[in-house]
Amino acid sequence: MRLTKFTDLALRAVMRLAVSDQARPLTTREVAEAVDVPYAHMAKAITRLQHLGVLEARRGRGGGLELTGFGRRASIGWLVRELEGEDEVVACDGDPPCPLRGACRLRRVLREAQEAFYATLDPLTVADLVTSPTGPVLIGLTGRRSG
Ligand code: SF4
Repeated sequence: MRLTKFTDLALRAVMRLAVSDQARPLTTREVAEAVDVPYAHMAKAITRLQHLGVLEARRGRGGGLELTGFGRRASIGWLVRELEGEDEVVACDGDPPCPLRGACRLRRVLREAQEAFYATLDPLTVADLVTSPTGPVLIGLTGRRSG
């Protein structure tokens, strides 16, 4: 199973914001540069995370992005499900649909495997993902790209 790039960079943003200095919140551009993804892609992920209630933007001087209390406590399994959507790991109902789709044991076990994948992530929160060694590395990241 492979996460979409969108989910991956949204998770990078959440982890980076989890260790940021609340007295000096980061902007979307700073987060994008820190985790080395294009600004436009990061802006879309930030918007989605705001809609999910995971982070919020403070406007004005000294403004920037910060995780909400909900975002800090949220299950990573829940977050990845929201970002990935309802798709199965194989496109049984694609175009053309697979002729086995109505009676396929493989489809059923793949659904179970997908659920087991999410179940592994369910008990984790963002705080669990930024303990050492990840957190100190995140804090030290500096931007290398712009655009
Ligand atoms: S063989 Fe089964 S799992 Fe694969 S596409 Fe067809 S219905 Fe889906």
